[in-house]
Amino acid sequence: MAHKVRRFLFCLGAGLLYYSGILPLWFLVRDWMRGGEGVCVIGLHRVLSEEQECRANSLEGIVMRERTFAKLLDYLGRHFAVLSLDAFLDGRRAPGSKPRCLLTFDDGWRDNYTTALPWLKKHRMPAVIFVVTGFIEERNTFWVERLIQGWRSPEQHAGFRKALEDSTQGRLVGTTFEGIVEHLKNLPAQNREALLASWISAAHVEDGNPDETFTWEEAADLQKEGIDIEAHSFTHPLLVYEDEQTVSRELAGSKRMLEERLKKKVRAFAYPNGTWDDRVRRQVQMAGYDCAFTTAPGWHHRGDDIYTIRRIMLHEGKVTGVGGEFSPAALAVRLSGLR
Ligand SMILES: [Zn+2]
Repeated sequence: MAHKVRRFLFCLGAGLLYYSGILPLWFLVRDWMRGGEGVCVIGLHRVLSEEQECRANSLEGIVMRERTFAKLLDYLGRHFAVLSLDAFLDGRRAPGSKPRCLLTFDDGWRDNYTTALPWLKKHRMPAVIFVVTGFIEERNTFWVERLIQGWRSPEQHAGFRKALEDSTQGRLVGTTFEGIVEHLKNLPAQNREALLASWISAAHVEDGNPDETFTWEEAADLQKEGIDIEAHSFTHPLLVYEDEQTVSRELAGSKRMLEERLKKKVRAFAYPNGTWDDRVRRQVQMAGYDCAFTTAPGWHHRGDDIYTIRRIMLHEGKVTGVGGEFSPAALAVRLSGLR
């Protein structure tokens, strides 16, 4: 209930700011004060058709519906100059006076190829996809989706909860599913896999799995269509919990494999889960990347650190109104960085 009230108040406030003209004016003034050098980097994950949505096992925080995505692109096309990665890194100014944005996707989900690409082509929009190289190579998928799929059979719950409680000396007794995900997310990858191994399916996926990444052939197709494929590690661990050698392997290994497979120079890295610290940041630089993206909210301005670029992460709930339809006012407030 409280969530619904908050959402209603947010939509009301967003509508007032947007339709009164205050918000568009705020954009102009802020950009003028910053010398017009800001870039709004947008971060997305999955784009799902209705049929894909019924079968997918992802948390709602990484999903956008196809019809909402189509409207998002329409809005960006009208209000922003959408840059390629090279134009962003070279600091090129776009013709005209529109503010600039860079569109990015994390993880390399297959729906980026089947569902998002046709809309990007229609709007002739460049984008960047950060892929988990080892998952494409070995046909593996993410542990959260495997966990959600396993969680669909209630008979699994008691045993899994017991294993989890034992491993944390009772700290997680009675926690919610979201609490379990949060706990597992912040474990070194090896410990997490050991805990999950007997409760959920293996990481390897068969054809038709709703949570698979795209293939190398599809990555090459995306590249031909003007989509930049860049790195998001080899197996998607939270790098701050991994030792120096593992981090170096994750960074250098994914870069090398992408460059060999796609015959291109890989320039950009996106930290898995947006998580970084000074050690990881330094290693990204040492591995030869030209820049790296976080999930800290805000715009990127000239002079900001190029290895901790901010992004505005969007999903269905962030850009829709109370009725669930796309809301330009909600989107404008998100993109303004006000909230
Ligand atoms: Zn990711």
